[in-house]
Amino acid sequence: MLKNDMLEQWDRENFFHPSTHLAEFARGNAPQRVIQGGKDSHIETRDGQKLLDAFAGLYCVNVGYGRTEIAEAIAEQAHELAYYHAYVGHGTEASITLSKMILDRAPDHMSKVYFGMSGSDANETNIKLVWYYNNILGRPEKKKIISRWRGYHGSGLMTGSLTGLHLFHQKFDLPLNQVIHTEAPYYFRREDSSMTEEQFSQHCAAELEKLIEAEGPDTIAAFIGEPVLGTGGIVPPPAGYWEAIQAVLDKYDILLIADEVVTGFGRLGSMFGSDHYGIKPDLMTIAKGLTSAYAPLSGSIVSDKMWKVLEQGTDENGPIGHGWTYSAHPIGAAAGVANLKLIDTLDLVTNAGKTGAYFNKVMSEALADHPHVGEVRGEGMLCAVEFVKDRDSRTFFEASDKIGALLAGTMLEDGIITRAMPQGDILGFAPPFCLTEAEADEIAEKTAKAAKKLF
Ligand code: PLP
Repeated sequence: MLKNDMLEQWDRENFFHPSTHLAEFARGNAPQRVIQGGKDSHIETRDGQKLLDAFAGLYCVNVGYGRTEIAEAIAEQAHELAYYHAYVGHGTEASITLSKMILDRAPDHMSKVYFGMSGSDANETNIKLVWYYNNILGRPEKKKIISRWRGYHGSGLMTGSLTGLHLFHQKFDLPLNQVIHTEAPYYFRREDSSMTEEQFSQHCAAELEKLIEAEGPDTIAAFIGEPVLGTGGIVPPPAGYWEAIQAVLDKYDILLIADEVVTGFGRLGSMFGSDHYGIKPDLMTIAKGLTSAYAPLSGSIVSDKMWKVLEQGTDENGPIGHGWTYSAHPIGAAAGVANLKLIDTLDLVTNAGKTGAYFNKVMSEALADHPHVGEVRGEGMLCAVEFVKDRDSRTFFEASDKIGALLAGTMLEDGIITRAMPQGDILGFAPPFCLTEAEADEIAEKTAKAAKKLF
């Protein structure tokens, strides 16, 4: 086995890590951790540290680490057939079975699934399908996409543009000119504190309508949103939000893309966020929880309404010119089948709802009285603690205060992995669905301890 210091040196010399301060990393001043193994909610570093992963990797290892059922399905598939493409009608037993399993779980009006490798490429596919759809319907000017500030939809050229976080735009000349952003449904940070949740939802819908009118309804193709804002701060929608937004979209014949990369396959305690909030999407984006990250795989689920037009398009124009080499990769598909079976067998969606509610309760009890905790919020196996400078006047920290990073650092020393969300003053939690109540208690207790230590 290679020595740790050798690996760390190779790492610094050769490995370009995502979302990393490159200069600090090269100087040896940034965290460097080599991960070796994992079991259930814990991972182990190469130097033997056992950590409770309260973020399930990047909210993706939903069934927990070390599931032999999935590992064996991957190995069997690799031995039998590691790869064949999915172009022009090719499939494998795993990819065909998985497409049926996904559709069996998706809302009734969804019709087909297109496979990709990552959440970003699935969203790229979705935008192309929206544009294709409007071209086939003879309205080529209807092309702009609306997303929300604080939304996260990926890091590609289009998806990075859709993402409503400045960190992902700066110095890349994003967003692209077909993308516009509207207000985030961020009730805690509303400007008018006298508004009820319902009033704030109506306000968000009114802002959306104003934007559509200003841009010209005939130019707006689709609205994309996560059922619960994730990377933008783990923000569940205020009461009545999705209902109000959908009414506006219907009025102007604008398609709705539900980005279920985080919420799909059970994280909220429902199979999809769309079920949870009564959303009726035209397209759904799935990734992470589809395979619990045992292998990369994503998908775009297409509604009946759009599918009919796509078929018409190929009758008029020939095959649809869109595809990835690794679309429906057999190993990813085998992982997906085994993962969805395991979720059913262990009833993990129910557990995500039940233990998730317990987790949110103990987090609230442990933290709500802390003078710098502005809000503890969450849904299912998602939770966020937002820190504020002053509770009464709701004065916020600057990103440069790095409150989240400081707290995440302290908690890591105490054996818990959390995530400092990109805006700096929010600590995020998204544990695996197999989290136990004892582990939930431990996370809550150690978060309160870290907060007490800092302020
Ligand atoms: N959409 C959402 C809601 C996400 O949270 C993410 C990633 O975190 C993505 C899309 C992009 O997925 P990927 O990183 O697999 O490209």
